[in-house]
Amino acid sequence: MSKNQFQGCDYYNIDELLNDEQKMVRDAARQWVSKEVSPIIEDHCQKATFPKHLLKGLGEIGAFGPYIPQEYGGAGLDHISYGLIMQELERGDSGIRSTASVQSSLVMYPIFAYGSEEQKRKYLPKLASGEMMGCFGLTEPDHGSNPSAMVTNFKDKGDHYLLNGAKMWISNAPFADIAVVWAKNEEGRIKGIIVERGMEGFTTPETHNKWSLRASATGELVFDNVKVPKENVLPNKDGLSAPLGCLDSARYGIAWGAIGAAMDCYDSALRYALQRQQFDKPIASFQLQQKKLAEMITEITKAQLLCWRLGTLKNQGKATSAQISMAKRNNVDMALHIAREARQIHGAMGITGDYPIMRHMMNLESVITYEGTHDIHLLITGNDITGIGAFK
Ligand SMILES: Cc1cc2nc3c(=O)[nH]c(=O)nc-3n(C[C@H](O)[C@H](O)[C@H](O)COP(=O)(O)OP(=O)(O)OC[C@H]3O[C@@H](n4cnc5c(N)ncnc54)[C@H](O)[C@@H]3O)c2cc1C
Repeated sequence: MSKNQFQGCDYYNIDELLNDEQKMVRDAARQWVSKEVSPIIEDHCQKATFPKHLLKGLGEIGAFGPYIPQEYGGAGLDHISYGLIMQELERGDSGIRSTASVQSSLVMYPIFAYGSEEQKRKYLPKLASGEMMGCFGLTEPDHGSNPSAMVTNFKDKGDHYLLNGAKMWISNAPFADIAVVWAKNEEGRIKGIIVERGMEGFTTPETHNKWSLRASATGELVFDNVKVPKENVLPNKDGLSAPLGCLDSARYGIAWGAIGAAMDCYDSALRYALQRQQFDKPIASFQLQQKKLAEMITEITKAQLLCWRLGTLKNQGKATSAQISMAKRNNVDMALHIAREARQIHGAMGITGDYPIMRHMMNLESVITYEGTHDIHLLITGNDITGIGAFK
């Protein structure tokens, strides 16, 4: 039985920086997560099953493509609202946020930004409602941090393309209706292709035995001479900057999402520390426990301010890839550290599913690795401030 009684943390009155629409969107997502996600997520995580029945509700609260214009079925919201939705979803579980991030930033965004008008009208409204689900195939078995070396490729066969290769570690793959796949053409140029479930030679085997993101479905994408209609290629952008543009949007959402996981851990740790008695006192009265809690709320507050400012820059079209990278790295690292400290405050109870801590901690081990590892993001900042790339 979950003891989650979450209340948001706002030590610096950051709510005063939000407009009414942003607060309304955040509160609606918060209520939905408390009602629909928190009561069932632990069980799904323990059983390693994805709660597919939540997809319709995610569509209804506008979690799929919040910033996509309404004429394509999106909610037409600003980027701070998008971030706040991701924060609330990840307070529930990183796996639920991952599903919404992938659908919004890695499937809808590339179709919206790089797709033809026909592609936008065909796919975006169904993706926004959750009637259709998508996944994003960039990572390959031998090419993770360096996707430019990918080997998945397609050849021009006159009236269609022939796609071959494999992608690995793909969120939503086992149930996705479409995959936005990044592959090289005969000139070695990276292009985005929409591959639909049911195309001959296309399979999506599930990846099992994960200790992290257990309530999220992960799988492979295998392309064995898949015939793809030519109109399924995204026409308006190519090269590595195309998938990296999608990752900017998704990393931005992760930076907010990590705050949600951290807030849930802090909230649970604070309650536990006030209730749990040892040596005839609440453990919250011991200086060492107060140090942990004080550092947690400080780091959460810093992360909130970082995201609010980043969101403001993004709304103005001024947020750089390097700024987004810094926020993703900082906030996920912050959340993982808080999860570990919160786990200790809960003592032995912290390892059980009665509290959300261990689940968040294990989830965050994936979040710190995907969409660019912590170390790769350090290299991105290093490159940005010195002008010297240290990737090779
Ligand atoms: C649960 C989960 C879901 C995922 N979902 C998706 C998805 O939906 N779509 C998708 O395309 N991918 C997805 N990924 C893949 C993810 O993006 C990759 O795992 C990530 O990019 C790292 O690649 P890798 O695992 O191959 O690690 P590697 O690239 O092999 O890196 C291993 C280690 O080496 C370090 N390293 C690598 N290069 C350097 C360097 N130049 N300098 C210093 N250190 C370096 C890394 O920081 C890391 O610590 C997912 C992963 C997970 C775990």
